[in-house]
Amino acid sequence: MLSRIPFKRVNWINSIFLFIISALAVIGAPIYLVKYGTDWFTASLMLFYVIATGLSITLGYHRLFSHLSFKAKWPVRLATLIFGACAFENSALCWASDHRKHHKHTDHDDDPYDISKGFFWAHMGWILFKINPERPLDNVADLQKDKLVMWQARWDKWIAGLVGLALPALLCGLWAGSWVGALGGFLLVGTLRIFLVQQSTFFINSLCHTLGRQPYSRNCTAKDSTLMAFLTFGEGYHNYHHEFQHDYRNGVKRWSFDPTKWSIWLLEKVGLASNLRRVPSSKILLAEMAEARRRTSEHLDHIAASGETVCERTHQAVVELLERVTDSYHELETSTGEHVEMSKHKLAQWRRETSELMSRLTHLASLTPQMA
Ligand SMILES: [Zn+2]
Ligand SMILES: [Zn+2]
Repeated sequence: MLSRIPFKRVNWINSIFLFIISALAVIGAPIYLVKYGTDWFTASLMLFYVIATGLSITLGYHRLFSHLSFKAKWPVRLATLIFGACAFENSALCWASDHRKHHKHTDHDDDPYDISKGFFWAHMGWILFKINPERPLDNVADLQKDKLVMWQARWDKWIAGLVGLALPALLCGLWAGSWVGALGGFLLVGTLRIFLVQQSTFFINSLCHTLGRQPYSRNCTAKDSTLMAFLTFGEGYHNYHHEFQHDYRNGVKRWSFDPTKWSIWLLEKVGLASNLRRVPSSKILLAEMAEARRRTSEHLDHIAASGETVCERTHQAVVELLERVTDSYHELETSTGEHVEMSKHKLAQWRRETSELMSRLTHLASLTPQMA
């Protein structure tokens, strides 16, 4: 794909900026650390900035402004707009517009970070090259009515430069009382932190469409990965997110690592957030069951078509899968806390389909000499 992009299409401003930030982060910051080390103030400030800017992207730019998955009072909106700008990922308005297009056209031409154009394109290639004509901001009319969002869209580069780079240099310089301290603030809290947070966001568009499982749907390439969740403030449960994009949670299970979800929940408890949108657990369970049935059916089709025998392990795995699906039906039928959005008729039909899958498996197993 990249070889087909004319040289004149390079977005020089983005490319030079990303090159300088990356060079300072991976070469300048380590040299500084080896030569001067760091102090607890700079280290704490860096940790604060990583969390503040990282969460401003996931909680603010993504779940609040792009997906409207909850409502937030103005201090939360203002803080995420200011620290979001410090991640140098464009204004919330443009970010949300691109992201809404990503969800609407996932894996297709109009998806700004379309993974089918290659891993590098989805990761950062789409930022390094110009798209002609430029994508119109035709899907963010709601955000254009928000005065804070529009204020940030006007000044985001200034906010990023002042709060994201100059302020850490100033604070660390004042603390250390030297230019070396200020340089440390610029390199560590500024460039290295920008690099880490940007790569974390870029991973969501590249690795989260490449690595992991698809327990909810295979309609698109989005994947769930706990490892990616650790690297992305909980955004690694991307298969769930693409299936249920308006849920304020990405890691929907109790054990999921999703600090963004926890932060939104905490904001609600202190009265700074409200109207948290949750997909009913019955609907989530139904999506998982439908996907498990589809997968089982495909496995059995493959085994039948290939004339392969069913080995003990496959048999056991499929039986366990079908048992899990059956347990889920039971869970649904006995669920009293929530309205199950499904007719008894449909549930009965699904049960029938599952037992048909079980019979097919038993039949295939009976054709295998060692299992008969
Ligand atoms: Zn995605
Ligand atoms: Zn999203």
